[in-house]
Amino acid sequence: RAKADGKGAYHFFEAALDEAASRRRQLELDMRETLRTGGFELHFQPLFSLAQQRIKGFEALMRWNHPVRGPVSPAEFIPLAEETGMIVPLGEWALMEACHQAASWPQAVSVAVNISPRQFASPALGQAVVRALAASGLPPARLELEITESIFIGNVERTVAMLHSLRALGVRVALDDFGTGYSSLSYLRSFPFDKLKIDQSFVRDLGRDASAQAIVRAIATLAGALGMETLAEGVEIQTHADVLRAEGCDMIQGYLISRPVPADAVPGLLGEVTALRA
Ligand code: C2E
Ligand code: MG
Ligand code: MG
Ligand code: MG
Repeated sequence: RAKADGKGAYHFFEAALDEAASRRRQLELDMRETLRTGGFELHFQPLFSLAQQRIKGFEALMRWNHPVRGPVSPAEFIPLAEETGMIVPLGEWALMEACHQAASWPQAVSVAVNISPRQFASPALGQAVVRALAASGLPPARLELEITESIFIGNVERTVAMLHSLRALGVRVALDDFGTGYSSLSYLRSFPFDKLKIDQSFVRDLGRDASAQAIVRAIATLAGALGMETLAEGVEIQTHADVLRAEGCDMIQGYLISRPVPADAVPGLLGEVTALRA
């Protein structure tokens, strides 16, 4: 009896694993097809300066509305694209599309594009950036690349050299999800990032957890001393914006200002800027 149950459970898990694997395989095929037929989209979320009370840029966030499954979260398809290598062509598309969109905006604000670790490791990245800038006519200073701490795992020297060669193109470099990953401070000495993006896990706990506020304060102080800007991610409520401003954070991003919006809503948001208060 017990033996039969054990076997049943085994088959149950095996079937569940098969199902997950086949969903992933199907998603991968669908991703290829969507890239080929132009079905990916970028949405844009404002990056808001607390001191100037205005939008200084937008982060480009990929969206995939699957014809059958409906919207698939980037939290699902980006890691899959990363594993399969699809992130390289997908990321090149995002760079190109983001630069073209930004070049058409009514104000000369910046656009931030996420670069995944595998894309960063690809020797094609530099050329992809050059091509996107040239084809769109976007001034390099208006493009910001967001990378995460995980790019420092492995060959630090190569990573730093790559960062410097990207910087030499005139683009800005931001460190995304700061405080979550690998979290060694040594790489802040090895490369002067333009911006540190404080991960939303710290922001979420502001006001509830004194240590979150102490960490935010420490990051703002450190960044200031190193000449880097700070931006807090995931700011949903006014109280958090108030605390962040008091702790010396330069910028915020989050639902308090705006959710990510389709490209055609960007000019409207830029126009509304004087109505925004944070
Ligand atoms: P990320 O780069 O850290 O982007 C911020 C995420 O926080 C976005 O999730 C955004 O929609 C979400 N967010 C913004 N404000 C708030 C808020 O107030 N509250 C909450 N709860 N969330 C907020 P999204 O769009 O689902 O993207 C998730 C992740 O997928 C991104 O995290 C990024 O790592 C990755 N991703 C998205 N687009 C791209 C892309 O084009 N290329 C690459 N390589 N990765 C991308
Ligand atoms: Mg990002
Ligand atoms: Mg982030
Ligand atoms: Mg994040």
